[in-house]
Amino acid sequence: MAKSRRRGIRNTFFSPGQLVGKVSSSSFPYTPRKHQLEVSKEISRELRRRNVILEAPTGFGKTPVVIHALLPYLERGYRVVWAVRTGSETDRPIEELKVFRERVGVKLFAISFRGKRDMCLLARRFGEKLDYSEVSYICSRERARCPFYRKLSEGVDLERFRRRGALTFVDVLTEAEKLGVCPYFLQRSLLRFADVVSLSYNYVVSEELSWSIKSVFPFRESILVVDEAHNLQHLDLGGDVITEGTLGRAVSEARQMGEEEVVELVEHVQGAVEELFGRLGEEESATFEPEQLLPDNYPELLERALRVGEAVRELRYKQGRRPQSSLYHFAEFMSRALSARGVRGVALIAEKLEGRLHLEILDMRAAEILRGVWRSFRRVIFMSGTLSPLDAFAETVGVDNYHAISVPSPYDEANASVYVVRDLSTRGEELSDEMASKYVEAVARLLGRVRRNTAVFTASYRVQARLFEAGLRERAEELGYEVFAERRDMSGDEADSVLRKFKSLAAEGRGLLVAPMGGRFAEGSDYPGEELMCVFLAGIPFEKPTTKTRLYVEYYEELYGEDKGRLYAYVYPALRKAAQALGRALRSPYDQAVLVLGDSRYKTYSQLLPDYVRELAKEASYRDLGSVRLPWLEVRLPRPPP
Ligand code: SF4
Repeated sequence: MAKSRRRGIRNTFFSPGQLVGKVSSSSFPYTPRKHQLEVSKEISRELRRRNVILEAPTGFGKTPVVIHALLPYLERGYRVVWAVRTGSETDRPIEELKVFRERVGVKLFAISFRGKRDMCLLARRFGEKLDYSEVSYICSRERARCPFYRKLSEGVDLERFRRRGALTFVDVLTEAEKLGVCPYFLQRSLLRFADVVSLSYNYVVSEELSWSIKSVFPFRESILVVDEAHNLQHLDLGGDVITEGTLGRAVSEARQMGEEEVVELVEHVQGAVEELFGRLGEEESATFEPEQLLPDNYPELLERALRVGEAVRELRYKQGRRPQSSLYHFAEFMSRALSARGVRGVALIAEKLEGRLHLEILDMRAAEILRGVWRSFRRVIFMSGTLSPLDAFAETVGVDNYHAISVPSPYDEANASVYVVRDLSTRGEELSDEMASKYVEAVARLLGRVRRNTAVFTASYRVQARLFEAGLRERAEELGYEVFAERRDMSGDEADSVLRKFKSLAAEGRGLLVAPMGGRFAEGSDYPGEELMCVFLAGIPFEKPTTKTRLYVEYYEELYGEDKGRLYAYVYPALRKAAQALGRALRSPYDQAVLVLGDSRYKTYSQLLPDYVRELAKEASYRDLGSVRLPWLEVRLPRPPP
């Protein structure tokens, strides 16, 4: 099952021959499923000498297996940092650790760590969802006189928190509110005693954020677990974006402040952006040089814009409004763009999205930056359901000296029927009317057959729009389905509500979700059981060949050579997104689904698809989709254990 690679082994964890890393099956809190204990032992053993990459299908139970593997290390006093993609996922490992405490008596203190955005009680008086920098601004100004901070300084009995063992962020927040103390600094105090902390990637990869954790939870003495590690290659490592809207608001702010010179500066940039990039088509991009956009005397003017932006934040704050300023953001963005000039791996891009021009600082240096991060820990475990090919994953995110474990998926004909459609493809710049109509016909035939909650995951928003233009919504509604579509500008709350409504139709089996692969509905969202029983992939989510894509590929070709560069930058990420989208319908061995790969090119890339797709896939015409095999009519699988 396992593949090993050794590259210049450094800092051995324990001296050779020591029996550390032995795991006992009695400390596993569930009836072990196939491969679970074997994998746990392998992780534990390998961690003595090197990092571990674990690829295992959803439903395998990666989280309890990895916790189990880490127990011998925790017993010896090593600490664990568990990094998840977003703040909302930090509680999952903590809940799992509660099970270890309750069922097998593991004595650990674990805490889920959230940023000030979620934990600041004082910021609530603004009533709106503030962003990280706004809450930081409030705290930096108010901490000295903050009543919650003062109360915390008077002392809190931390021991009673420690006795509870595993604390989610809500546990800390609720207790802090009862005591009238600052939840953010309370969790920082608790962090000193924690054996395990669960937090978002940002606290590990961002220099600006990680110092606050490292000062009380030294990384050098810790093992890092990176959950959903397939996201690492495209992690936002400090890029930034401003839009035409930012520029427009910056002009208004400067005008309100009576700063004519600053108004002229931003208007100059607006004019240059329009002149240079106004003719870009939708989703087209080009590179820019900051000097092309700025007037000659920009150094003093940018300084001034930054100061005026700061004054705008201050003024708004005093008026009890969000301390935000587009002018400040503009000036900071331009200053960062100026310092990024000539840095290898950082690109400055102008792009049109939904009719609006965006300027972006794109930092592509995942391998370079992350390699340093991993080296700051004792060991690292990377885990996900979709990392293959594992050597390419390791190279693109800077992992050295590792052991790779690949767990086969448990799915067979009883779980899924899988089809690759030979006469559909989104290949080419634009989806023709004829091809768009074929796609709609294919989905309609499928919907008419399955009569279960279905997702059409598209190659891009463009493909999604073309399918709607070709009548997808009307055809689905005629068949009795209610249609939900993801939008680029959808807020988090709106997305949650859409997902709730879609899932509520599971019993009737008449929800249709349409969303792009790589988006929040096609990755990260869970649809157990009947919530999603059919997935149709409309195309392969290759990036559109824009200037931005070209730069990305060129940078990777420079790093890894021509062949590998294109595969790493362009092919593998697209296939991983497709695998993620397919995996939404198979969350455990008790799930059943119909999976349709609606693009003939999937045949060429079959080696890069999950093992169950390779084993079960049959070729079909889009006309055949009205008679797909429905696994749930043939085999009745047991219900999952509680
Ligand atoms: S000390 Fe705590 S409650 Fe007070 S402003 Fe800072 S984060 Fe908010």
